[in-house]
Amino acid sequence: MARTALVTGGSRGIGAAISKALRAEGYNVAATYAGNDEAAANFTDETGIATYKWNVADYDESKAGIEKVEAEIGPIDIVVANAGITKDAPFHKMTPEQWHQVIDTNLTGVFNTVHPVWPGMRERKFGRVIVISSINGQKGQFAQVNYAATKAGDLGIVKSLAQEGARAGITANAICPGYIATEMVMAVPEKVRDSIISQIPAGRLGEPEEIARCVAFLASEDSQFINGSTISANGAQFFA
Ligand code: NDP
Repeated sequence: MARTALVTGGSRGIGAAISKALRAEGYNVAATYAGNDEAAANFTDETGIATYKWNVADYDESKAGIEKVEAEIGPIDIVVANAGITKDAPFHKMTPEQWHQVIDTNLTGVFNTVHPVWPGMRERKFGRVIVISSINGQKGQFAQVNYAATKAGDLGIVKSLAQEGARAGITANAICPGYIATEMVMAVPEKVRDSIISQIPAGRLGEPEEIARCVAFLASEDSQFINGSTISANGAQFFA
């Protein structure tokens, strides 16, 4: 029987590419979203992939949503914690609200997404936890103290989960994308985008499908010994 994969924020951007790649590998896929009903409906029409709406920042909503997915599709063996937001501001202007919104969605959201599926993975002796972190969690970024803190936190989460899950057949890994050509990045003024691209040795933005292919590999049986790792997919942007 096909395994079931859950992709949070799976109806748009990088998440949509991940949902499609996992579907193409033959998994049952459930894609979640926060509020953009139109994008989710279009995504389901285009792909046939079921979408579910809940706020990853809310534990009870996440748990109830996950129970619904498991009842309707099947036990979740692969979880991709992809949903994320930015609320950028230089630190001296960053408000407690901007701090908490990003922490609640990007960091607590990972706990809320993985915690409800973890017991089932332990029982079935198989699981794949894949967290979409960011290059900015590895190197920090101006005006992203909140975002960089969450994305660095993701790396601590997967390294710890890897140690707890290894004997139960569960792996936990992170992917750190560099700049990827999603709506968010394509919406920045062309001049700013050009300056971003000039700092990427590859000379281009990444494509969502390039991240999706990393996820598909980490989701597979073949990746069993890769556990607690971070895959950087950033066009050769090295940093100390
Ligand atoms: P998008 O803004 O294109 O999509 C974000 C997705 O997450 C949407 O489906 C959105 O739902 C969902 N989402 C946001 N907040 C919540 C929430 N509280 N509860 C549930 N779902 C939520 O993002 P990207 O595709 O650009 O980014 C995806 C991930 O990749 C993020 O974690 C981001 O930090 C990371 N990343 C992105 C990079 C890039 O260059 N784009 C680079 C490095 C990392 P809805 O459609 O309803 O709004």
